[in-house]
Amino acid sequence: MSALPILPGTLSAAGQPATLGVMGGGQLGRMFVQAAQRLGYFTAVLDPDPNSPAGLVSHHHVQTGYSDAAGLAQLAALCAAVTTEFENVPAAALQTLAATRPVAPGAAAVAIAQDRIQEKSHFTASAGVAGVTCAPYAVIETPQQLQAVPADLLPGILKTARMGYDGKGQVRVKDAAALAAAWAELKQVPCVLEKMLPLQAECSVIVARGWQGEVVSFPPQLNLHVDGILAVTEVYEGNMPPALAERALDAAKSIANHIGYVGVLCVEFFLVDDGSALGGLVVNEMAPRPHNSGHYTLDACDVSQFDLQVHAMAGLPLPQPRQHSPAIMLNLLGDVWFDAQGQARTPDWQAVLALPGAHLHLYGKTEARVGRKMGHLNITGADVASVKATARQAAAILGLPGCEGL
Ligand code: ATP
Ligand code: MG
Repeated sequence: MSALPILPGTLSAAGQPATLGVMGGGQLGRMFVQAAQRLGYFTAVLDPDPNSPAGLVSHHHVQTGYSDAAGLAQLAALCAAVTTEFENVPAAALQTLAATRPVAPGAAAVAIAQDRIQEKSHFTASAGVAGVTCAPYAVIETPQQLQAVPADLLPGILKTARMGYDGKGQVRVKDAAALAAAWAELKQVPCVLEKMLPLQAECSVIVARGWQGEVVSFPPQLNLHVDGILAVTEVYEGNMPPALAERALDAAKSIANHIGYVGVLCVEFFLVDDGSALGGLVVNEMAPRPHNSGHYTLDACDVSQFDLQVHAMAGLPLPQPRQHSPAIMLNLLGDVWFDAQGQARTPDWQAVLALPGAHLHLYGKTEARVGRKMGHLNITGADVASVKATARQAAAILGLPGCEGL
């Protein structure tokens, strides 16, 4: 096991530069690699895709499957510590790596995030302490459990326990017949049925926790989804009631502490109209990694979520982040590369880059597809009104959804 901390710019006994590794080569891996390199680390990415966004910018790119024994051995030989950029990385692969290297987050935490059933038990035990609950739900793994579903969970959303993302693996069901049909459609894999809640808004909290249990956090992000994919994140004072923001932070910290989590963790919440003056907070799911809703930290905070991922895994100090500018993040999906007639086009970057406080991040993906995350645009400014005005301008130039209410 390598000794922590792993200091940047140092050489190992074998003369190898301090190198950090990541499982997965998507955009989150790319931004991790960039943060690590800025500090002076060498980087290694494991991803089978020769054109993966992170592989393209890393010192080393191991091009094998995530469970390939030779690939994992190569990654371990290159790296002093390893992290992950997606939650569906095989937990067994993280366990293999952890036999010889610090791995953060660990396999056990990732395994919980991979399974909605385990995740909900974990939330009940941990977020409950902060007075935050899950949506009412039932586990459906057997025909008996399907029959026994309480009527007051309907209408609801049936979600596969594993492998869901961006709203995939989910079916909205209004009654018992639709539920049975939906479970059959999902091939009767283990699922949870959640009661459909009257959402007022959605938010998320990102925390980072170190090997010694120290925890730092970013302020809660207010998120707007369009067609099940994050479209807009707003972060500034007053984006949500302070008492709810406080509770969301407490819940996220408790969720991380309860399992001795190490690394960056994002917890997603619903704001629900529960009849109370303040409204209620419901915890939805967690991502054991930096999150799309935290991309604004690259330009609006003095340390980003990727900087903290590097610090946490390498055993460096975890400074409390400070947001220095109000921010709005606009997700750039492949849709932007097509006009209303479906003809390919180049988005008007000239006009976007002329906007004050606009920070364009593209992930190096050469093929635009509808719904594919191609990049994001962070907008910062001196005050909330000017940030909103610039975001509306950018949305108009690019034809982005979700900014109507700004
Ligand atoms: P991702 O991993 O990309 O965040 P996902 O596929 O894991 O998405 P969820 O976050 O569980 O799925 O749900 C996707 C969206 O569906 C939520 O952001 C929310 O808008 C809506 N949704 C999910 N569960 C409920 C619920 N119980 N009541 C009302 N709306 C819900
Ligand atoms: Mg979600």
